Amino acid sequence: MPELARRSVLLGLGASALTACVSQPAAMAPPPAARTFPKVLSQRDRITRTVVGLRPFRPQGFRLEAERFGDKTVIHNYGHGGCGVTLSWGTCQRAAVMAGETGRQDVAILGGGVMGLTSALILARRGHDVTVYADVMHPNTTSNIAGALWLPSSLFDRDVASEEFLRLNWQVTREAHRGFLPYVNRPGYGVSWVRHSEVSPRVREPRWALPGGDDLYPDLDVRTTETRFGFAYEERYNTLMIDPDYYLDMLMKDGQLAGARFVARRFESLEEVLALPQPVIVNCTGLGAAKLFGDETLMPIRGQLSHLLPQPEVDYSYTASGQGGVLYMFPRKTGLVLGGSHGRGDASMDISEAELTRMVDGHAALAERASFVTFAG
Ligand SMILES: Cc1cc2nc3c(=O)[nH]c(=O)nc-3n(C[C@H](O)[C@H](O)[C@H](O)COP(=O)(O)OP(=O)(O)OC[C@H]3O[C@@H](n4cnc5c(N)ncnc54)[C@H](O)[C@@H]3O)c2cc1C
Repeated sequence: MPELARRSVLLGLGASALTACVSQPAAMAPPPAARTFPKVLSQRDRITRTVVGLRPFRPQGFRLEAERFGDKTVIHNYGHGGCGVTLSWGTCQRAAVMAGETGRQDVAILGGGVMGLTSALILARRGHDVTVYADVMHPNTTSNIAGALWLPSSLFDRDVASEEFLRLNWQVTREAHRGFLPYVNRPGYGVSWVRHSEVSPRVREPRWALPGGDDLYPDLDVRTTETRFGFAYEERYNTLMIDPDYYLDMLMKDGQLAGARFVARRFESLEEVLALPQPVIVNCTGLGAAKLFGDETLMPIRGQLSHLLPQPEVDYSYTASGQGGVLYMFPRKTGLVLGGSHGRGDASMDISEAELTRMVDGHAALAERASFVTFAG
């Protein structure tokens, strides 16, 4: 199996795009100053909530294109799998350019998740007359459930995605990163840097660049010794943590300030969509596009997250792959997020007790391993 696909499978990282093989190991860190990482207290009695969401996945990658229906133009922007928050600024800026090219003023946006809200903000700021239609709005969308680490993951199948898509994805990933940077540490937006570790029981040889290019992940440190949790291999770098509850709230308010209107409405058919008064329609319906636009390639990848009580001393995040599957932990002000479940094709919204046990016990076991490791962060 190619390394990129292995990374996708093992770490739940749907891989990036055009990935460059990087001679390994990358610059080794200077001798470490000792540091102990505070343990995550992964216990059932510390869980504040467990949530389930469905990632809108397409094996060939997201759909970003304009389609004509008579005198209407529909601009599709959906199917971002496990990284819709990550890619939002990239694909939404491109969708907004397509909308601008129609020369029409009135734009309808279908969907009130991260794609709909970001598109609404960009288009309203560009002077369009924007109306957002959605049956479910913030704070109840899939986007609200996201982890949400800035990292393109579970985005496409390497053996299905075209070279053209990989090139587009690489550029969009870089544009998306640039879009988020102005929000880092902006009060109220819930966006901040975090020191993230991807650990794996196998050394990656050859090593491939991180999604969008290593330069997007400052202070990258590839190591096979003194790794977090004592795994065989670690890639440690800085990336962005986004707390969707804060971030989407601000995005919606910014959109409203810029003039976007929000209408609660469910569409049952394409005919209903095309009956909208606006000549341009940006389709940000995520999984909903399967029924509305007959996209049979769209499928859910089920994910379950448990939130633990906050531990302000935990200032790092990790993704660990092992025999039992993937486990990740993202720290937020409001609590620690435990995740890593990927149920491909599974649309069940029920909480899985088995998955909950795997999370709590798995992270607790990692925390025990952590106690043996001291190194520089
Ligand atoms: C457990 C989990 C963890 C995740 N972790 C991350 C992460 O760490 N980083 C990351 O970047 N991403 C992550 N994601 C992925 C991310 O959540 C999705 O890619 C993203 O939410 C997709 O955004 P969206 O706006 O396209 O869809 P959604 O948020 O699902 O919004 C779709 C909108 O369309 C509306 N809609 C759909 N159909 C209709 C209809 N017929 N009529 C009217 N309205 C309709 C809905 O009501 C909703 O408002 C995660 C997802 C899950 C489930």
